[in-house]
Amino acid sequence: MANIREVIDIFNFKGDFVDVEEFGSGHINKTYLVKFNNEGSEQRYILQQLNDNVFKNIEQLMKNVFAVTSYLRSVIKKNGGDPDRETLHYIHTKDGNEFYKSPEDNTYYRAYIFVRDSVSFNTAENAEMFKSSGEAFGKFQRLLSDFNAEELTETIPHFHDTLWRYNNEFVPALEKNASGRLDTCKAEVDFVNKYADEMGKLTAMTEKGELPLRVTHNDTKLNNVMFDKDTNKCVCVIDLDTVMPGLALYDFGDSIRFGASTAAEDETDLDKVEMDLDYFKAYAEGFLGEAGEYFNQAEIDNLAFASKLMTLECGMRFLTDYINGDVYFRTEYPEHNLDRARNQFKLVADMDSKMDKMEEIIKNIQKA
Ligand code: ATP
Ligand code: MG
Ligand code: MG
Repeated sequence: MANIREVIDIFNFKGDFVDVEEFGSGHINKTYLVKFNNEGSEQRYILQQLNDNVFKNIEQLMKNVFAVTSYLRSVIKKNGGDPDRETLHYIHTKDGNEFYKSPEDNTYYRAYIFVRDSVSFNTAENAEMFKSSGEAFGKFQRLLSDFNAEELTETIPHFHDTLWRYNNEFVPALEKNASGRLDTCKAEVDFVNKYADEMGKLTAMTEKGELPLRVTHNDTKLNNVMFDKDTNKCVCVIDLDTVMPGLALYDFGDSIRFGASTAAEDETDLDKVEMDLDYFKAYAEGFLGEAGEYFNQAEIDNLAFASKLMTLECGMRFLTDYINGDVYFRTEYPEHNLDRARNQFKLVADMDSKMDKMEEIIKNIQKA
């Protein structure tokens, strides 16, 4: 790794360097808080070393992030908002580049202004907070509603193409049975197969032009939202490494999958795993309150279905990895992926039994 002090000197930070420390609880990149003193006032910056194990296409990823943030900045300015707080602001290098690639070890760095007076949280303590994160991602959709998502590169192809994953990952995994574990998960495999007919619904609607291609964030967890440290209102969405062309429904569905479940993703007592309708309602109110009028009716009508589909897809990916012998997700014990898959499938079954209620909730929000 390059010397971090030397990397700091590459970027066009204002004032005199004060100090640098590791920061935050991100799992992917290495994040630093960098403090400068600019004519007596403290300037904070975030400096990140990108994880080149996870991201194979960093230059394209950076292009996506810059395209989205510069567009967001111009819209926020036009609306009279504060672009230094309501989206990320990237600091260029002194040579005018958007990022720095260390010639020593080919690692990538980028820097941005620290979002002033903001904090992030790892778990939603109540439905109100979850609603706020729905607002943040709804606002993200609203501000980007006129952005041409075709400009972005699909840095992870087929990311939420559930049917593609079924045909090209799940079925081949069954045929290969690399781990020899297939006998131990027959019921779970049957569960996935039972849903095969539903997996292509959203992609087919997209191909027919019924669902518009939008910018999807693809990592909508709570600590990727910055909240105002005094009011606890959402300020902006960060961590744009996985922005890609996709459906607004994917972001909504994935948020519900992990945020509206009553238990952790690897809870093994399945009686504890349910979809909490109050949380579903709270998130939908936040999301649609911001972006509802920019979505078409087909998008709104599929919010509940997309929640189930994203949960099914995630469970199928855990099961695929279990059958492949735990080659993708980090596991802490041999059955970890199978437990996660069972947990997600319990949630899918619960959503199926609550589908009418979920759809009713969406209808009522739209009416209001
Ligand atoms: P993840 O595990 O979510 O993928 P990551 O490793 O990609 O995370 P980020 O989410 O970009 O990293 O940053 C990690 C943490 O650093 C954030 O949760 C947030 O607390 C803090 N952070 C990042 N960027 C900023 C910023 N511009 N202003 C203030 N805090 C920030
Ligand atoms: Mg993050
Ligand atoms: Mg990230």
